[in-house]
Amino acid sequence: MAGTGLFDLSGEVVLVTGASRGIGAALAKGLAAAGAEIVLAARSEAALADVAAQIRAAGGKAHAYPLDVATSASVDALFARLAEDGIAPSILVNNAGTEEVAPALEVTDALWDKIVGTNLKGAFNVARAFARARGGVPGAIVNLCSLASEVGIPTAVPYTASKSGLAGMTRALAVEWATLGIRVNGIGPGYFRTEMTEGFFAAEGWQQAMLAKIPQRRFGELDDLVGAAIFLAAPASAYVTGQILYVDGGYLASI
Ligand code: NAP
Repeated sequence: MAGTGLFDLSGEVVLVTGASRGIGAALAKGLAAAGAEIVLAARSEAALADVAAQIRAAGGKAHAYPLDVATSASVDALFARLAEDGIAPSILVNNAGTEEVAPALEVTDALWDKIVGTNLKGAFNVARAFARARGGVPGAIVNLCSLASEVGIPTAVPYTASKSGLAGMTRALAVEWATLGIRVNGIGPGYFRTEMTEGFFAAEGWQQAMLAKIPQRRFGELDDLVGAAIFLAAPASAYVTGQILYVDGGYLASI
């Protein structure tokens, strides 16, 4: 019957990278509430354990594993441990990311490598390991893109390059892996208050200036992203691949 099970995630195992705080933790909790079993991964193990405990306390199922997405050895070690533990993620939420602003003339090699190595190469490392582990079984990937996937953000050149690259990677993988049954899509958040963006939110006059550019005249709440993640993970989006769904209060539509 039309509609039945379209948004049902029971039986799915979702790996969420960067799940120790912010958007990743919120998506992990939201996807767990939608019925998925969650694998939380990031570098901060104590914070991951806390998020896992919150999911279990709400009646969900969660596991926590250490992961540094920027190192392919760490990514491969995670997938080896998951295989040993009999856990096979069917959906990947590629959320781990980092940002540090600096004028382009002051960007060091180390800063470029940290940001692009985490946000772009890191996302590829995990996508590749995920697809290898699927071994031809269908699955879905959701990459956390950004307004910076579409527009240039001054003093955020490595970040903008990484997120534009991630949008390109989303499309290229979607095309290449379509015949494997792995759908690859993205979510592009507008401005959400997290540890990553607290510097922007704290800057004098920034909130007022930004709100004037957001048609809905408010910043995103973390829960605003959950519906998009459920949709892109669930059977409802079975014929959607290579797309980026912007959740931005209308910002991109207005420029
Ligand atoms: P956040 O609060 O700083 O959280 C970043 C997460 O990524 C943390 O859980 C962090 O965990 C993890 N992480 C960073 N480097 C990692 C690494 N090398 N390996 C594994 N995990 C790593 O940022 P957020 O705002 O929630 O951002 C989440 C994603 O959304 C990012 O990709 C970001 O670019 C994107 N995004 C955010 C906004 C926004 O307004 N907040 C807007 C657009 C896009 P550990 O430190 O424990 O490893």
